[in-house]
Amino acid sequence: MGETFHARLFINGEFVESSSGKRFKNINPATEEELGWVEEASKEDVDRAVKAARKALQGPWGKMSIRERIQLVRKVGDLILERLDEFARLETLDTGKPLSLSKQLDIPRAAYNFHFFADYLHSVGTEAYQMDQTQLHYAIRRPVGVVGLINPWNLPLLLLTWKMAPALAMGNTVVAKPAELTPMTATLLAEVIRDAGIPDGVVNVVHGFGPNSAGAFIAEHPGVNAISFTGETTTGRTIMAAASRNLKRLSFELGGKNPNIIFADADLDEVIETTIQSSFSNQGEVCLAGSRIYVERPIYETFLDRLIKRTKELVVGDPFDPKTNVGALISKEHLERVKGYIDIARAEGRIVLGGNEPEHMTRGYYLEPTIVVEVAEQCRVVKEEVFGPVVTVLPFDTEEEVIERANDVEYGLSASVWTSNLKRAHRVAQKLEVGMVWINTWFLRDLRTPFGGMKQSGIGREGGMHSVEFYSELTNVTVKL
Ligand code: NAD
Repeated sequence: MGETFHARLFINGEFVESSSGKRFKNINPATEEELGWVEEASKEDVDRAVKAARKALQGPWGKMSIRERIQLVRKVGDLILERLDEFARLETLDTGKPLSLSKQLDIPRAAYNFHFFADYLHSVGTEAYQMDQTQLHYAIRRPVGVVGLINPWNLPLLLLTWKMAPALAMGNTVVAKPAELTPMTATLLAEVIRDAGIPDGVVNVVHGFGPNSAGAFIAEHPGVNAISFTGETTTGRTIMAAASRNLKRLSFELGGKNPNIIFADADLDEVIETTIQSSFSNQGEVCLAGSRIYVERPIYETFLDRLIKRTKELVVGDPFDPKTNVGALISKEHLERVKGYIDIARAEGRIVLGGNEPEHMTRGYYLEPTIVVEVAEQCRVVKEEVFGPVVTVLPFDTEEEVIERANDVEYGLSASVWTSNLKRAHRVAQKLEVGMVWINTWFLRDLRTPFGGMKQSGIGREGGMHSVEFYSELTNVTVKL
C-alpha cells in the first residue's frame, strides 16, 4: 500500500499514542506484508477514554436538541460516502475481503447505519397509559450513558457503525474497540467523527486485544454503563462475567451455525445463486453464513452437482482484482483453525470440492471454497462454527426430521428455508429455534427488524426500536389525577 498506516487511539477528540508505549504490527492477510502499527491502549488510556465519554455527556452533546444531534449523526454518514473509496481500500487491506464487497456492502451499509438511525430517532416516542380518570402514566427516555462497543474483524466498519449510530442518535457517548486484526477503518471513522463536528469525548476509539487488554478494560470498567458486543460465544461469556461487577446492560451478537433448508419444490436456479452467497461470500466469515445445507432427497444429487459446478467458477485470489469472488482469510491462525475442520471432514466424511490452499496464491491466507458430504450429523464440522468457506451438504427425507436436525446445535442465529409451498414455509419458520428466518432468500435486511440470535447466538436484539430500547433508559412517571 505504499505508506504505512499508524492506527492511533482517539481519546477526547485527539489522536494519541499509547501511554504504555506498547504497539503492535498490523498484517495484510492477502499478502502477509506489514500494513503499519497499532497503538495498544493501556488500562489508563481506557480509563481516560471512559472519563472523557462521561464528561461529554454533560457537555454540549448532552444539551443538544434531538434535531441538532441527529444532524451530526447524519453528517457522519455523508462523510463516509464522500470517502467511500478510501474506507473500502482500508477495509480490504485489513480483512482480505474483495474490494468489490467492501465497496458494495461494508462501506455503503456503514453510511446507511448513520442515515437510518438519524431518521429513525426523529420519530421515536414512549408509552403512556391512562387508568380511568384517576391515573396517568407516561415514560420518558434518556441515554444509558457511556456505552462500550466491542467488535469483531469480519465486518469491521459495518458492525461498529451498526452499534455506534443508534448509540449516538440516542444521545449516548461511546468507547469503541475494533478487533485487533482490523483497526484501520475505525481509525478513519474517528477522523470523520471529528470532521462532522461531533464534540470531543463523545466518541473514543481504543485499540488493543481482548484479555488483559483494551477489551477486558472496557468490560470491567465501572464507568461503562452498557456494552454491545459482537464476536465469539466464548468471548461473550468472559465479557458477561467481567461486566457483572457493576451490572452493565449487555447486548450480545455471537456465533452461528445456520441451516439452509432446501425442499424439492424450491426454485433451484435461485437457490444455487443464493447458496453461493450464503456459503462463500466474505470467505464464509459471516456469522449468518448458511454453513449447514440440508437438501430434500429427490433433488439432492442435482443440487450438489449444480452447486459444485457453480462453486468451481468462483475466483479465489487478490482481493483488489475485480474478478475475485473469494479473498483471503483474516489471519494465519484462523486459516490453521479452518484447516483443522477440513482435516476432520476429510477423516469423517468426503470432500467433493476444495479443501486446499490454492496453488496459484503463494502468499497470503487463502483457502479454496470447500464442500463436504457424507458426514455424520454429530461431526464437529456440522455442529461447530467454522467461520470459513466450508459447507456441509446433507440430504433429508421429511419436514419433521430436518427441523429436528436444524435445531440440534447450540447456536440459534438464523436459517434460510427454500420452498414454493407457502404453508410449509411459515410452518417451518415457526419451529426453527433461531432469531431470524429467511424464506426463499438470505441476508435480506430491513434495519427496522429485530436482529440477533437465541440460544448461544446472543442476548437481546438490535435494529429499529430494539436498538433504541437498548441504548436508552426509561423513567416512568405516574400522576394521580
Ligand atoms: P472474538 O470474540 O475473538 O473477538 C471480538 C472482539 O472481542 C475483539 O475486538 C476482541 O479483541 C474482543 N475480545 C476478545 N476477548 C475479550 C475479552 N476477554 N474481553 C473483552 N473483549 C474481548 O471474535 P472474532 O474472532 O473477532 O469474530 C468472529 C466471531 O464473531 C464469530 O464467532 C462470529 O460468528 C461472530 N459474529 C457474530 C455476529 C452476529 O451478529 N451474531 C456478527 C459478526 C460476527
